Amino acid sequence: MRRFDIFEPLPGIWCVQHRPSKSAAYIIKTFPGAVVIDTGPDATASSLMMGLQEARVGLSSVRLVALTHWHFDQSAGAAALHARSGTRVRYAEAEALFLTGQKETARQRHPKISPIAADGFVTDGEKLEGSLEAIATPGHTEGHMAYYLEARALLFAGDNFIVTNKSELEVNDETRASAARCLERPIEALLPAHGRPVTDRDAINSLRKRLRT
Ligand SMILES: [Zn+2]
Repeated sequence: MRRFDIFEPLPGIWCVQHRPSKSAAYIIKTFPGAVVIDTGPDATASSLMMGLQEARVGLSSVRLVALTHWHFDQSAGAAALHARSGTRVRYAEAEALFLTGQKETARQRHPKISPIAADGFVTDGEKLEGSLEAIATPGHTEGHMAYYLEARALLFAGDNFIVTNKSELEVNDETRASAARCLERPIEALLPAHGRPVTDRDAINSLRKRLRT
C-alpha cells in the first residue's frame, strides 16, 4: 500500500499527502506550467512524481520548487526532483545551512537525504513567477516562508499553523506573530504543511480575531 494520498483539494491545486504525519507537497497548476510548494518526506521524490503525473504536469513544465523551510518532511524530495529535472529550487537564506547539510541536524543524519543548494534565495515580499508572494514568517524555523497566491487568495502556510483533527486552526507561541502577519491578507483557503487544507472561513476568521486580541 502506498504511504501517501494524491488529491485535488481546489481546482488546479494538487496535494501529495504523506502518512503518518500528513505532511503535504502542493502542485499549483494555475501558472503557465506549474509551481511546487514543498516536496514531502520522500527522498526519492517518487510520490511527488506520481502527483505530477496525476495532475498531468510534465516534469519539464515545473517552473519552480519553493520550500517553506528545511525540515525533512517538507524538503527531502527536493534534491531528487532537481537531479531528475533540473527544476530550480528556492528557499530563504536562513535555511541554507540546514538544506546544504552544513549544520549538524537530524536531517543530515538521515542517510537518504541529499543536500540541495538554492537557485537564489527567496526574500520577503518577492513575487515568485510574477504572482506568488513570499511572506517571511520566522518562528517555526528562522527562515520559514509562507507563499500567497493573491489572484485566488490561497495561503500556502507551511508550519505557521496547526490544523487539528476537527479542522480547527491553532498557532503556538513561536508562530503566533508570523501567523497573524499571514492573516492580514484575505484568505479563501489555507493550505498547511501538515493536514487537510482549510476552506472554512469561520475557522480562519475566528483565528484572525483571536490573534488580534
Ligand atoms: Zn516543520
